Amino acid sequence: MEISAALTALESLASSPSTSSSGPLTILLDKHFSTARQKLLSGEDAALVLSDLQKQVTRAKKDVEKGLKGWYGALGGVGKAVEKAFPPNLAGISEAYDDPPLFVREEAREALDRAVMDSMARRGLWEAVAAMEEETGQIYNDEKRSLAEELGRIVGDMENGELSSALEWCNENTAFLRSPPHPSSLPYYLHRTIFLSLPNPSEAMTYARSHLLPFLSTHPVLELITSRLYIPPVSASTSTASSSSYPSGHNPSTSLEPPSNGVVDVDMGKVNPYPSVNGENEVSLINMFRGEYCRRHGLPKEDPLGVAVDLGGRGGALAVVEKARRVMGERLGNIRAWEELPMEVPLPASRRYHSVFVCPVSKEQATESNPPKMLTCGHVLASESFDRLLKGGRRSAKCPYCPVETSQSAAQRLYF
Ligand SMILES: [Zn+2]
Repeated sequence: MEISAALTALESLASSPSTSSSGPLTILLDKHFSTARQKLLSGEDAALVLSDLQKQVTRAKKDVEKGLKGWYGALGGVGKAVEKAFPPNLAGISEAYDDPPLFVREEAREALDRAVMDSMARRGLWEAVAAMEEETGQIYNDEKRSLAEELGRIVGDMENGELSSALEWCNENTAFLRSPPHPSSLPYYLHRTIFLSLPNPSEAMTYARSHLLPFLSTHPVLELITSRLYIPPVSASTSTASSSSYPSGHNPSTSLEPPSNGVVDVDMGKVNPYPSVNGENEVSLINMFRGEYCRRHGLPKEDPLGVAVDLGGRGGALAVVEKARRVMGERLGNIRAWEELPMEVPLPASRRYHSVFVCPVSKEQATESNPPKMLTCGHVLASESFDRLLKGGRRSAKCPYCPVETSQSAAQRLYF
């Protein structure tokens, strides 16, 4: 169970009247005790009332115990999730990696400090950067500082719904944003957002004429303008736009297709392909801006330290390393000498940086020792699968997917 799921289970226990800390007790006091009191006051037989109350109290006690069981179970769930997310033996892993010792050389230590400072600067934690400068004696790079400050300022404006500084940046970098091979759609999406946010239709049309028409050849401008017919003035409440309405990369959106997340306008019974501007879209727009800004200045799109920690901790790579070390021990040798992880680490799609090849015959993922090989026909197999076809000293083999023969020497190794 993931930590967040385990915490949600705890929260639902706390908010449910039958298991919250005061729930069963409140029922006991409010209901049974006060009823008993009233009965006594009205002159009912005290012995009967009390024995009745006793029964109720016993029942309430049972309820509390049942609730407690739920709590112990949920708390145990949180403990297990934490243990699963963070390897319990961090010191052991650290020792295993410490041969040869890590971060001993001066330049290695400086590089680590720089990575930490970069990470803090990206988050705008300038006080922490200053403290780090003092502690390490390093001065944070001026150029990086001013870039991080500018990015932080523009993103801050965007978070406040103010897009003019982002547009200004686009104007200053028009040539870069337009240049192949990755012309950017950022200016279009900025103007699109402003267009959709203008409540007055005629004002919106004027805006579209001067700012959106230049994108006519590359973006679905006419559809966008027409969509104003379907959008009720500034009522984003029915919109369920997801972050996918903006392209995540910087590919030019040359397609005339509207974004795929069509929103059904319940009142009109028609599909409005252009959801109104809402918070989620602004977040995507900010991410898009961040991406372009980093690309412009050759900065990594994501904080490298953040990615490493995310993959190691939440992604579970460290837990896998630790498990492999525990299970297979010495047989695997020094961890630092491992060429690949002995077990698979499942990663979300956003964290997959390299293409992998899975052999269509053996269904195994290609490795250094079993690389992909392309046959004369263009079909690709893992090397071992091709060798199997060559069994019995044959010089050539027929492709399993088409009738073309490939001689042993003609198969070529592929590099992804
Ligand atoms: Zn073939």
